[in-house]
Amino acid sequence: MWLLPFFKTIFSSLGKKPSTYAFPYAPMQKDPLVRGRVDIDIDACIFCNICARRCPADAIIVSKERRELAIARFQCIVCAACVEACPKKCIVMHPQLDAVSDVVSIDTLVAKAQSHTKETVTADA
Ligand code: SF4
Ligand code: SF4
Repeated sequence: MWLLPFFKTIFSSLGKKPSTYAFPYAPMQKDPLVRGRVDIDIDACIFCNICARRCPADAIIVSKERRELAIARFQCIVCAACVEACPKKCIVMHPQLDAVSDVVSIDTLVAKAQSHTKETVTADA
C-alpha cells in the first residue's frame, strides 16, 4: 500500500519530457535567472571601495593607490550586492558560466590610466 504514491508518480511522469537536461552530452542551457559571475569595467571604476565594503564574503579588495581591484572568485557567493552598490555601475553580473578549469582564484584588474594589464592567479598558485 505504501508503494501506491510511488507508482502514481511513475505513471503520471510517463510520456512527459524530462525535467533535467543531459549535460554534458547536450549543450548547457543557460537559465535567464542565473547570475553567472561578476564582471568589472575597470576603466570606469573610481576606486571608491563601496563594493568591497558591501561584499558579505570579503571577496573584493580595492586599491586606490595602485588603481586596481581584485576579486576572489571562489570566495564570491554571487549575491550581486556589489552590483547594486556601485555608484558608477561598472560592476555587472555576466550571465556566463565558466568551466571550473577556466576559473582563476583571484582576478586582479588594473585601470588603463596607470597600466593596461589584467593579471590572474590560477587556482593552484
Ligand atoms: S563600487 Fe564601483 S566604482 Fe567603487 S570601487 Fe567598486 S567597482 Fe569601483
Ligand atoms: S557578488 Fe556578492 S559576494 Fe560576489 S563580489 Fe559581489 S558582493 Fe561580493
